[in-house]
Amino acid sequence: MAIESFDDPTADFILRSSLPATDFHVHRLLLSLSSPFFDQMLSLPQPSPKELARVPIVEVSETPQTLQLLLQFIYPVPNPIIDDDLDTLILVLHAAIKYDVLPAIDGLRSQLVSEHYLKQSPTRIYAIASRYELEEEAKLASKHTLGINILDAPLSEELRYISAFSYHRLLALHHTRAKAAQGLLRLRDDVKCMECDGTYGAFSEGPKWWLDFRRRAAEELGVRPTTEVVFGMEFLSQSFQQVGCRKCPLSLLQSWSFLEELKRRIDELPATV
Ligand SMILES: [Zn+2]
Repeated sequence: MAIESFDDPTADFILRSSLPATDFHVHRLLLSLSSPFFDQMLSLPQPSPKELARVPIVEVSETPQTLQLLLQFIYPVPNPIIDDDLDTLILVLHAAIKYDVLPAIDGLRSQLVSEHYLKQSPTRIYAIASRYELEEEAKLASKHTLGINILDAPLSEELRYISAFSYHRLLALHHTRAKAAQGLLRLRDDVKCMECDGTYGAFSEGPKWWLDFRRRAAEELGVRPTTEVVFGMEFLSQSFQQVGCRKCPLSLLQSWSFLEELKRRIDELPATV
């Protein structure tokens, strides 16, 4: 008999799921060892000898799927990997936290911040982590939100449950980092263009490509304060395609070390809440 089927006749306790009601025959000892919640619940009412004859049933509000996954973290079977269904992961995490199932909380916390989920739904992960006060996960997720315009991100159900404090912290991170990154967009003295430098009278603001790049980069960093887009070849090359100076492409290439330094300084700005 597979242990995952939860119909072991030696089980001494039944957890009954909702929607639909399904019985999971479980072992008190394993539940007690994994969860202070169950430990306390199971140690409270000592069944009388008469009651011992039947296995006690506790009804829970979780679905069979959620309960099954949660119990797999408790039993000596491989931990379930929920890597392509964030909704399910959230339900199981919620149950794990509700019942204080320590091995499940640990396993699910690390799955929550898998690369896949962070890339796909960073704002949602941030909201979930904030809701459950998972500080490390919230920090990691906040970093991944930098590449998206959070005010444009789709509304997620999880936002209902996070505090204004947590949301404000995220907006403040974006705002502060955007301002700081924009402040770093300053030209180094040695960056020149042989053709268009000095066309602004005695005072040169820099080559045309730079003026165009600075304007567009400031705008882009204002909504996505990360270097991913602005230092991409596509974004950079627009700056000499649009300004119409023959020598600007050469100037830009010769300024590569300046651009790399600029990118590094922006990357070094605080990136988490
Ligand atoms: Zn030029």
